[in-house]
Amino acid sequence: MNEISKSLKCVVLRNGIEIWREEERLNDLVQMLKGQKIGFIKIDNEIVNAADIIGIFSALTMEELNRRKNGQWKCQYGNWHGKNEKCFCKPLKKCRVCGKINPPSFINYNGIVCSDCWENENKN
Ligand SMILES: [Zn+2]
Ligand SMILES: [Zn+2]
Repeated sequence: MNEISKSLKCVVLRNGIEIWREEERLNDLVQMLKGQKIGFIKIDNEIVNAADIIGIFSALTMEELNRRKNGQWKCQYGNWHGKNEKCFCKPLKKCRVCGKINPPSFINYNGIVCSDCWENENKN
């Protein structure tokens, strides 16, 4: 996700319409909605019935929503899988010395140690 999409927020309406705006440009709208003032409101050059707004969501939430709509699901390791896909994700192994993720070869001793660090530790 780049810097621009991070600051984008999505106003979702009951009919499925998504209005994407930079977060700071939605501040007035957020204040209005918090004030429970229901009625027609202006978002830039568009008029929206505030009662139809489901919420204002981050790009990340919208991405997750779209994935779930497409039948994808998130496994316990935080990876997305297709509808009929099984999860074969393995927990990440991290060398406790150099922090290398899933080293090609490692020794399990007081935690995971990659073979390079193991050699260094046992030089003397
Ligand atoms: Zn998985
Ligand atoms: Zn290491």
